[in-house]
Amino acid sequence: MDAKVNGNVSFWYADIGLPAFRAPLPGDLEADVCIVGAGYTGLWTAYYLKKADPSIRIAIVEKEFAGFGASGRNGGWLSGGFGWSREKYLKTSTRGAVIDMQRAMYGTVEEVIAVTEAEGIDADILRTDNITVATNKPQLDRARAEYEEAKAWEMPADRIEFLSAADARARIAIHNVQGAYVLRGMARVQPAKLVRGLSDAVERLGVPIYEQTTVTGIEKGKVTTNRGTVRAPIIIRATEGFTAGIPGNERLWLPLNSAQIITEPVSDALWDEIGWKGHELLGDAAHAYCYAQRTREGRITMGGRGVPYRYGSQTDVRGQTQQLTIEKLHAILVRLLPQTKNLRIDHAWCGVLGVPRDWCTTAGLDPETGIGWAGGYVGLGVSSSNLSGRTLRDLILRRDTELTRLPWVNRQVSKWEPEPMRWLGVHSMYQLYRMADEREEAGLDHTSKLAAIADRITGH
Ligand SMILES: Cc1cc2nc3c(=O)[nH]c(=O)nc-3n(C[C@H](O)[C@H](O)[C@H](O)COP(=O)(O)OP(=O)(O)OC[C@H]3O[C@@H](n4cnc5c(N)ncnc54)[C@H](O)[C@@H]3O)c2cc1C
Repeated sequence: MDAKVNGNVSFWYADIGLPAFRAPLPGDLEADVCIVGAGYTGLWTAYYLKKADPSIRIAIVEKEFAGFGASGRNGGWLSGGFGWSREKYLKTSTRGAVIDMQRAMYGTVEEVIAVTEAEGIDADILRTDNITVATNKPQLDRARAEYEEAKAWEMPADRIEFLSAADARARIAIHNVQGAYVLRGMARVQPAKLVRGLSDAVERLGVPIYEQTTVTGIEKGKVTTNRGTVRAPIIIRATEGFTAGIPGNERLWLPLNSAQIITEPVSDALWDEIGWKGHELLGDAAHAYCYAQRTREGRITMGGRGVPYRYGSQTDVRGQTQQLTIEKLHAILVRLLPQTKNLRIDHAWCGVLGVPRDWCTTAGLDPETGIGWAGGYVGLGVSSSNLSGRTLRDLILRRDTELTRLPWVNRQVSKWEPEPMRWLGVHSMYQLYRMADEREEAGLDHTSKLAAIADRITGH
């Protein structure tokens, strides 16, 4: 199966057009705050900071254009979910604090929607549920365990539900579906429309975004770029999956690849066969899980593992992905929805997301150096980056608030191993996940032990 277009950043820009570049940094500059990276994290930080203190001088420096990274390429799940280990956060905090963090995360969905309404940003936002389908017994056990865990951590009863096979099938005609875990109160977005609207809103507030400006070094009070130096007492590193490219941060967050394909628009007759009337965010409970959405104009995106990790933390070239990845994603789509087997694939692309050594997201500001950061969202950055923006605002303004007391703030995590250990670890993990998925699909009645070995190798 071929895709008509491969790369060119992402389909989301084929939908709206790639933007013209904003002007680069004109030379040396002084600011109160310099933000490196114009994705959701950098933009939300600038947005909330400038709103809180209009006199503050903020400069954003961006290597390509606002939304070039994962923020303009993702699956459009504005999820507010909690995708990290609650137990790991519990080690350095309290149960109440972890529950507060969970609540703050799902509060991001309404907050993002409120800002888009206030700022007139049209990002095809649609409130919907997230449905995780299970197509074999071990997947069903894991999906149920996830539901039980959410209950045990006091997720409000009206936000979670477990569906029988028949009820799941009534929503989306997934082949072989055995049951599904539903998280309510989420939303679908067109990611590039969101990041474009947000960058325009930030600019309207008087924050310059210097594009085509590559940061080559960050140190206390100083950001070095190919266009000049920005001196600022506060510097925010908002480069998530690209962070390893900034000297001194090579082993901080692993750049994990994720890729997607998108079908041609689906006919009404085919939608009648498939269902999916609620436009749910659709995922599965496989170890190498997938994520899908039904887009505004009636296409299906299917995302999942691309080439999982490139040696030496390298990233892709403008979103181009491997032919093998396109074929694997197509196979997942047809396995879950055989009705789609004759649909054309119009576009394929990939991007990088940031993974910390313990797979738990962090945000923080070092008072000694004035250097702050947020990210390592492990694939949940559309919603979490909004909480990052508000949290970094409070940290920069030295406010002690409910947000700055959450357990992800200023959390220190160990670094990834040097190469070749890093490459070997991540590749073994994905091989083992693949083998575990195959065994479970072939009829194993419990979760494959290979998956547990994979988790142990990488600390997942
Ligand atoms: C394919 C894919 C699907 C995903 N799906 C979802 C999803 O459905 N839901 C979800 O919640 N999350 C998803 N994620 C994750 C989410 O998109 C990211 O976590 C989030 O967008 C990160 O935002 P960010 O601003 O921190 O980083 P980015 O959006 O990656 O922005 C970083 C910016 O920094 C710039 N930059 C990099 N290096 C430099 C430098 N040296 N100098 C200057 N600028 C630099 C980049 O050009 C980029 O614009 C997905 C990610 C990918 C890749």
